[in-house]
Amino acid sequence: MTLHEFDIIQAFFNNQLTQRSDVILGIGDDAAIVTVATDQDLVITTDTLVSGIHFPENTSAYDIGYKALAVNLSDLAAMGATPCWVTLALTLPTADVFWLKQFTDGFFALANRFNVQLIGGDLTKGPLTITVQAHGLTPKNSAIRRSGARPGDLIYVTNTVGDAGLALKLLQDKNAPEQILKKLCRPEPQITIGEKLRGIASAAIDISDGLAADLGHILEKSETGASVYVDELPLSNEILNLISHDDAIQLALNAGDDYELCFTVPENKSTLLKTALYGYAYTCIGKITETKTLDLKFKNGTLYVFKNQGYQHF
Ligand code: ADP
Ligand code: MG
Repeated sequence: MTLHEFDIIQAFFNNQLTQRSDVILGIGDDAAIVTVATDQDLVITTDTLVSGIHFPENTSAYDIGYKALAVNLSDLAAMGATPCWVTLALTLPTADVFWLKQFTDGFFALANRFNVQLIGGDLTKGPLTITVQAHGLTPKNSAIRRSGARPGDLIYVTNTVGDAGLALKLLQDKNAPEQILKKLCRPEPQITIGEKLRGIASAAIDISDGLAADLGHILEKSETGASVYVDELPLSNEILNLISHDDAIQLALNAGDDYELCFTVPENKSTLLKTALYGYAYTCIGKITETKTLDLKFKNGTLYVFKNQGYQHF
């Protein structure tokens, strides 16, 4: 099957459900045109997924399409931004119609849920690589940065951590629970929580490289340290059913790909936080300190000795 580049774009990328009124010109020209209200800030992020590195080569096209968008929306969530537009640069070894259908089904399933419109992109031939650029909006000066954590702030994590790390180990296992695999293949960008944290969280990050490493980025940018109780880390029932508590803690701290949010909140905003996140799952795991180190311990005071840091690309 050979399809012309423009036929592919027309057939797979230009028949979207989501049509936003702030898109003046979408796919089809040399560039897209969008409009931003004067009381908003535009928040921009980009992330690339390379086959064999960011996902196993046998990952389904649907999951690849979903995840390529999800990891970018997750970065916007960590900034407290509301996603609105994306561009997609796709490098494909062949123009396989079946693959493209599955890929775009996964991509647009998520895009439509968050009212995100694809406004442009690029199509090239080569080893399978997907680059998404995502654009989000916040009210002026309200995006949440990594640099705002202060000593005394409480540290929180959404939902549970470690599940995606376990899923990666269980990929070849036919008995692996669906819930665990889903955390790896179809991570949920925590957009709503991110939006609700505007004006409340002093700092935030999404957990892509492992909680210890990602919290480390907040500490570095905020020039602070932290004290974390490893026995407060939120672990799923699924993970506790499958591996020991110690191994679960190890995964929760070191394994990447969870795409939960880690954020800090000044203690005097605890009540605001409770109201804002009513009905959502989040857990306090420790406190920001002045020490400039990340101290991991058990609630009984024993130090936790941890083995390695999060995923490093180089
Ligand atoms: P140019 O050569 O000017 O860069 P292209 O021929 O690459 O333009 O693309 C034509 C139009 O199709 C552009 O509006 C571009 O943004 C869009 N486009 C190309 N590839 C994709 C894609 N994978 N997804 C969405 N839009 C795309
Ligand atoms: Mg051009």
